[in-house]
Amino acid sequence: MSEYLNKVLLEIEQKNSTEPEFMQAVREVFATILPVLKAHPEYEQNAILERMVEPERVITFRVPWVDDNGKIQVNRGYRVQFSSLIGPYKGGLRFHPSVNQSIMKFLGFEQIFKNALTGLPIGGAKGGSDFDPKGKSDNEIMHFCQSFMNELYRHIGQDVDVPAGDIGVGAREVGYLFGQYKKIRGAYEGGVLTGKDIVYGGSLARKEATGYGLVYFMREMLKTHGNNLSDKTVTISGSGNVAIYAAEKAFQYGAKVVAMSDSNGCIYDEAGIDLDLIKQIKEVQRGRIKEYLNSRPNAQYFERFGEDSPIWQIKTDIALPCATQNELTLNSAKTLVENGVIAVGEGANMPCTQEATNYLLEKGVLVAPAKAANAGGVATSAIEMSQNSMRYYYTFVEVDSKLEQIMVNIYNACRKAADEYGCSGNYVAGANIASFHKLAKAMIAQGVV
Ligand code: NDP
Repeated sequence: MSEYLNKVLLEIEQKNSTEPEFMQAVREVFATILPVLKAHPEYEQNAILERMVEPERVITFRVPWVDDNGKIQVNRGYRVQFSSLIGPYKGGLRFHPSVNQSIMKFLGFEQIFKNALTGLPIGGAKGGSDFDPKGKSDNEIMHFCQSFMNELYRHIGQDVDVPAGDIGVGAREVGYLFGQYKKIRGAYEGGVLTGKDIVYGGSLARKEATGYGLVYFMREMLKTHGNNLSDKTVTISGSGNVAIYAAEKAFQYGAKVVAMSDSNGCIYDEAGIDLDLIKQIKEVQRGRIKEYLNSRPNAQYFERFGEDSPIWQIKTDIALPCATQNELTLNSAKTLVENGVIAVGEGANMPCTQEATNYLLEKGVLVAPAKAANAGGVATSAIEMSQNSMRYYYTFVEVDSKLEQIMVNIYNACRKAADEYGCSGNYVAGANIASFHKLAKAMIAQGVV
């Protein structure tokens, strides 16, 4: 490790010692950019690392709301505006009880690099709350979203900061957030949030974009290595937005998705998952994945105990972690390798622990890193913003083909950067190097601000 990199890492570790997820995300980037720093001494002279790891702004706020029993509840809201180097802040909102500043900062940090890879003019941000939407009525969700927006509105705008969905925030929540923003501002600023419903300014194919994009990236990566998705067995953790549409596209390419999960456990259906049934349970009934067995009694259900999800015990050619951070540990990576996995594609943000990623790479498994492989969601959000500005709608096919081209471009950028810096086939390094370069150049060009 270079002296400069080491010094900065030590300083950041001291300043952020209570933020393990954020430090993990920083370390993962630092572990791959040494050759770039050596080739570009101007990055050290311009204090690029020190500036890049410090968010431009971290906002926290109180979110009070009244539940259905008339009781006052208080949650904490966050918006981390990490970087506006290449466009307005952009990144999702997560509603989950585990949300804290460390998780918000890790997600915001990742988002800067991801957004740079899309080739579109968007900066990086993340936000959310420790609010748990599970078991809440529609009315409670609406009141919470309205209270959240009562504060957030003063920090966002279609040229300032454009939030979207993430875990626990889908079209329903974005709708309530948008309604309240419009009410407060007294103006229809369609591009202030993305992930909107189609009937009031959303984009066709946004819902599908992250999952489809992940599979487009996987297809390109397999192609380089003389392989494809046809007839491959696929396991996908999670059963939310990313997981469902990754499964849909994998099926379209002739793969067989045999397992999906939620935080309680996973289902295994040897004949191939019935995706319409999953959609019904998760998107319509907002139920638990275990209910799958009510209609498909031949499938199996494995309860989750502890940090390792049972889904990674299932033999598969391709594993797509699409639930949450650090869900695929070294133990799980070892089992996947023993069972002959050929590729892992990160649909979630930082789903593999660093030890798991290193192990998979050492064993020659192809790894599609989150920053690149799940960038299709935010890229399509940027396409939604363009449509809002033009006051125009593209067709599904138009958006999907733009998404596909963006994913091919991202893959090529990662591959080229990895080749140039002597780590061919390591797309984790390639993604970090390609995006770091772009951000560093923009930072130097804009001066010390
Ligand atoms: P959803 O809320 O739609 O679905 C999340 C899924 O992951 C659910 O099945 C949920 O199960 C499971 N999950 C959530 N938290 C945990 C946990 N702590 N342990 C185990 N399982 C968990 O979210 P998305 O599909 O939108 O997001 C999934 C991942 O993809 C996240 O990492 C997100 O940051 C990332 N991502 C999302 C994008 C998007 O466009 N939506 C874009 C890029 C990345 P349960 O119902 O039991 O909680």
